Amino acid sequence: GTPIRIGIVGYGNLGRGVEAAVSHNADMALMGVFTRRNPAELNPARADTTVFAYDALTEHHDSIDVLVLCGGSKEDLPQQGPELAARFNIVDSFDTHARIPEYFAAVDGAAHEASTTALISTGWDPGLFSINRVMGESLLPEGDTYTFWGRGLSQGHSDAIRRVPGVAGGVQYTIPSDEAIDSVRSGLRPPLTTQQKHTRECYVVLQDGADADAVRAAIVTMPHYFADYNTTVSFISDDELRRDHADMPHGGTVIRSGSTSHGKRQTIEFGLQLGSNPEFTASVLVAYARAVHRMGAQGQYGAKTVFDVPPGLLSPRSAAQLRAELL
Ligand code: NDP
Repeated sequence: GTPIRIGIVGYGNLGRGVEAAVSHNADMALMGVFTRRNPAELNPARADTTVFAYDALTEHHDSIDVLVLCGGSKEDLPQQGPELAARFNIVDSFDTHARIPEYFAAVDGAAHEASTTALISTGWDPGLFSINRVMGESLLPEGDTYTFWGRGLSQGHSDAIRRVPGVAGGVQYTIPSDEAIDSVRSGLRPPLTTQQKHTRECYVVLQDGADADAVRAAIVTMPHYFADYNTTVSFISDDELRRDHADMPHGGTVIRSGSTSHGKRQTIEFGLQLGSNPEFTASVLVAYARAVHRMGAQGQYGAKTVFDVPPGLLSPRSAAQLRAELL
């Protein structure tokens, strides 16, 4: 049939991931990347990708089925989500958990008014982890849910390290505590704080003449970011930073630990080990773009979340094929 025509809005890590992900889906075609920067100065990863200015979205209104929004959650999506849902079907990965209800309401109003379908906050967390939290709670009402993150590169904590005086560069990995995971898997349902569940590993490049002990102390005592955690700081060279820490791995585990009668423990576990956080998140966005296209065609307008999307709609196979082949 005719391919689903995809547009990418914003060309950062996630935007490049979507460009790659679309090429792995035979039922989709990439119509272009739309950027707020000068399109002539962006070099797309694939030779057949065209880059347009953000304003050119106006003339592409009838040639795009779903826009995948790849802007940042903090500054870009709160503006672009409602603005573009008023003109297109959209998918995004808005991940500021505390602000999802207000963001949903803004996008929902725009999408209902325009009869578009707008799936917000998909990816892995929020996204696949959210689905697994709902499943766990619904299937095992008597129980506790645990989310562990990592091992993964945390952008926010890496930025915090780079602001410490004497630091030339650095990255931070969030590491789930093996001890904590084992105690949850054993079914003991321990009360655990975020701090008890995770440790933090920092790899830091010092500026010339900087005092290593002072830098280490400034990092491990930094309120909110590191002070409450078991934090280790390793000093490395600029070459090592570029060679060993350029990727963006991430992942984590959602565990529901419950019981169905006295002594009958039941555990549900869902885990991800991601070599590239943005490329995986992009793959999720693209599968949900397919679902959005179908829901739009069925007249299911308004804002949606992953809780509203039947899993069969993510698949390129038909419902009959899915029943025969995957059930
Ligand atoms: P980036 O910072 O790489 O890109 C965000 C936007 O900034 C881009 O869309 C782009 O817009 C602009 N930009 C990118 N590079 C440059 C540059 N060199 N100079 C100026 N502007 C630039 O963010 P990511 O792609 O890594 O992440 C986007 C969002 O994805 C995150 O904010 C997060 O909310 C979300 N996310 C969600 C996950 C989930 O599980 N739900 C997981 C991972 C991420 P433009 O082209 O218009 O300039």
